[in-house]
This record gives sequence, C-alpha cells and structure tokens, in this order.
Amino acid sequence: MPHVEANETYEKLLSRVRAAFPTPVVDTISEGRLIQFAVQALNRLSHFKNGHPHLGSLLPLEYSSACTARFPERMSCSEAVTDSMADYFQGHVIWGHPHTQQQVIPPPTIVSILGQMCGAICNPNLLWDAYSHRVAQAEVELAGMCAALVGYDGALAGGTSTFGGTGTELYGVKIGIEKAQPDAFKKGVRTDLKVIASDVSHYCRSNVVGWLGLGTDCLVTVGSESDNSINLADLEATLRSIIRKDERIACIIVTMGTTDAFGLDNVEGVIRLRERLVEEFALPYRPHVHADAVIGWPWAVFNDYDFLANPLGFGSRTLRSLSEACKVFRGLCLADSIGIDFHKTGYTPIASSLFLCKNRADLSLISRDPALMPYLFQFGTHRPATYTLETSRSGGPVLAALANLKLLGKEGYRVILGHIVTMAEVLRERLESTTHACVVNSSNHGMVTLFRLYPRGVNAKQAYSEETSGPENTEQLEAHNAYNRRIFEILRRQLQQGNGMNLGMTDQYRRLSWDKPIVALKSFIMSPFADESAIDFLLACLDRAQAEA
Ligand SMILES: *Cc1c(COP(=O)(O)O)cnc(C)c1O
Repeated sequence: MPHVEANETYEKLLSRVRAAFPTPVVDTISEGRLIQFAVQALNRLSHFKNGHPHLGSLLPLEYSSACTARFPERMSCSEAVTDSMADYFQGHVIWGHPHTQQQVIPPPTIVSILGQMCGAICNPNLLWDAYSHRVAQAEVELAGMCAALVGYDGALAGGTSTFGGTGTELYGVKIGIEKAQPDAFKKGVRTDLKVIASDVSHYCRSNVVGWLGLGTDCLVTVGSESDNSINLADLEATLRSIIRKDERIACIIVTMGTTDAFGLDNVEGVIRLRERLVEEFALPYRPHVHADAVIGWPWAVFNDYDFLANPLGFGSRTLRSLSEACKVFRGLCLADSIGIDFHKTGYTPIASSLFLCKNRADLSLISRDPALMPYLFQFGTHRPATYTLETSRSGGPVLAALANLKLLGKEGYRVILGHIVTMAEVLRERLESTTHACVVNSSNHGMVTLFRLYPRGVNAKQAYSEETSGPENTEQLEAHNAYNRRIFEILRRQLQQGNGMNLGMTDQYRRLSWDKPIVALKSFIMSPFADESAIDFLLACLDRAQAEA
C-alpha cells in the first residue's frame, strides 16, 4: 500500500480518515466500501475452511512477541487491516463443524450475526431510549418474548440485557441482597448474608459474591443427587441452620442445566421449601430464588410440545430425554429471576444475555435516582441506566437475540435442540453398547455426554461403579482418571495432526463424598450440522486413541 508522506497536512489526511467511516448521507461509493470489505473478510475466512474443525492451520501462539507490539505511527489502509483481522482467525475453532463437540459455544445464525452487525453500524446505546430509540423497544420486546416463553406474566415481568451469564447471576444475587438487607445499596452490606447453590452449580457464583462484596466465604454449597440436581433435604438442613444462626439468605441459586452434565434443579421443590420456611420462621423477608438457566432456558420451547402426538417425529430416546427435562422446566416460572444466555443454546454471537425478573418492580431495588445523572434523561421515557450495572450497553446483542427468536420461533428451537439431543442419544447408545466405555451422566437429559474410557479387558460399567462406591478404591479411580487424561492428550494430538475430533473434557465431573474428582471426557454437541457420521468418526478417534494408550 502507498505510504503517506510524513509532512502531509492534517487536512489532506482527513479525507483518508473520512474514508474509514460509512458516510452519514447516502453515497453509493462509500456504501459499497463497507460491503466490499465485508466480502473481502468473508472470502478470506472461507479460504481458511479446509474440512478440519478449525480454520487454516494450527500455528503456535506467540504471546511473548505479541506483548512487544507497538502502537502504529501511521495510518494504514482498510484493505490491509481487513485481511489482518481475518488472519487472527487462523487456527480458530469452527463451532458449527460436526467434529467440534467441545463446549457450550454455538455457531451463530446468519440473522444473529446481522443483528450484531446492524448494531455495530448504527451503534445504539441502550442506556436510554434517546440513544437507542426503537432498539430500546426491541429490548423490551425480547424480555416480553422470553417472559412468555418461560411462563412469567408479561405485564409484570421485566428484564435487561447484560454482559453474560455471570452478569445475570450478579443481578439475581444483588436483588436478593437488597431484599435481605433493604438498605444495602446505600449502606453497603452490613449483615452476614449467605448465598446458597449446589456443588455442581457454575463457578461464577464465586465471582459474583466476590465482586458484590459479600466475599466468597458467604457461599454455602449444598450437595447434589446422582442426577446432578440439588439435594433438597440437604438444602433444607442448610437453610434451617442459617436461619437459626440468625444469618440472612441473600439468594438461593438453582441451576437449570449445569455446565458439565446438564443437571436440572427442582425449582418447584426449592420454591415450596422457601415458602414453608418463610412461614415457619416468620421471616421478615423472602429469600430470593434466582434460576441460572443460561444453558437450559430454550428447553422451555417444549413446555407445550405434544409429546404424545410428537408432530416433529422425534425418536423414542429423544422424546424421553426432552419430556423428562420438560417436567422440571415447567417449574422455571416459579423462580423470582432467571438468567438466559443467547450466546449458548440461543445460537447468537457472544455476549448476549438477558436477566429476567418475574416482578419488574424488583428492579427498583437497585435503581438510582436519575438526579444523580445530570447529563442524561432530559427526555424520553425508558431509562434502563437507572437500574443497570453497566452505563453504556450495546444494542447489537439484543438484536442478535431477537433476530433468532423471530427467525426460529419455538419450531426452530425445537428442531435444533431435538437434533442435538438426538445426536447425543446416538452417541450414548453406541457407548452403552461397548464394554470399555461408561457414560457417567446417563441420568441427565441434554446434549452433553460425559463418559470414561477403560483399558481393553476392563469392564467399564463394573469398574466405574466399584471405583465410585467407596474410598477404598481410590487407587483404581485415580488410575482411570489418569487413563482418561492420557486419552484426551492423544485426542488433542490427533486433532493437531489433522485427523481428530475436537472433544472436551472435565477435570471434575463430580467430587466424590471422600473428596476425589471424577475425570470425564465430554462430547458437547452444539452444531446443527452434527450427524451420525460425526458420531462414527468420534468413535473411530476413540478407538485409535485407545490403541495407542
Ligand atoms: C456459561 C455458564 C455461566 C456463565 O455464563 P457466561 O455467559 O460465560 O458469563 C453461568 N452458569 C452456567 C450454568 C453456565 O453454563
């Protein structure tokens, strides 16, 4: 590209700066430039698609030279920058590839990408409708649709988009704090407050209580059942002991879809327990129940699916999985607030999340006086920044989510979820029929399959039940933990050599009561392009890895 003379005046350079922006008034040449560069970037990205579950080649990463990068002295040209942006995706995982089964990260749909892109072009700021206009309305619409989906009363419910599932939990716990200690926003947390969640709930609970100033010591983890749902008897004993000590409960977090295993807590049971304890102890507040449904929320599309007539023609294993999950999801509407990630099972780009309140009046517990914000709110009617954690908030994530809900509707989500569950069931069935593998989350009903492999000649199911039955078999458990780590290393190497499956693993599917972790390999199927031949390939990769181990 031509270099600009160092002594050019700013006025000369200004035209080049202006060319970097879309023009504010119609100008076909400039409109064309955005499209031209978009096409250039897309072409370059497609050029990297070579059949593998990642783009281009897996070059080693060079952090030490990266940190010596210098702020550029001179302007560059958009063509070169566009190419260099695309080049950052060399080696990147293709989430939609059928051989990618690594994590709860989806390929985003085209309309959700465009939602983000339109957001990027017009740059709405959701802090106030003066800066986002109809996009502010889109956020209300999004919250309304989700409220209707989960079974909240739309006239009462309310929500706000936020920076991730962690953000949704932060809101849930913060509102709970205000309920348990009504002046906390002003005075700070002055009482001993507890946050309760199961031992398999997401670790972001620690971020949340740490950042909210409760301190991680306030976390009380409750045991879980073998199906990874919260143990209600344990929860009851825990709550009683907290109340008797005269401590208060800021929040009970229920999880609707644990990250590793897709465990589902019995929301209805938790709510009933809460009501009973409030009455029995005449509590002056009602402990807040927040549902971390960031992964599980779209299962609510099956709440009114006719499982008997089964119009979509799901197979019997899929049908059982979906209907079992649904029994729990129908209780989701009982939670006081819900966290939703569209950037997981909603198939939008990261980050797009919604914090949804059953009763939007709860948001007033965290509202600030608009008088504190003299530079804002001189007109307009909708002022989310009076209650949001963020000040500026992008409209792109809202449009991305809304685009998917409009495009897919219940029908489309039923098809996607039904398909990924079907693929997971195919995998489970195949693993169940081999002697050297054991599915460890077989009582969970989702698209994630956790399994352990065992050396040839070992009966996997028997070995697993032995090594998880008591501490006397710890040596065997640890040997097989190590074996599965070894298999995972070989799988990673196969992938690097261009003939592998991008699987995940977990260092701790669960902790046994004698404090030993169960390692497991993880197939997290997210891609609508996953098919039976991908499952065949996965099993072939496992066979090769076992032959080597
Ligand atoms: C991913 C996840 C979170 C955290 O969400 P982010 O969007 O990554 O912040 C919280 N809870 C569960 C169950 C999750 O799977």
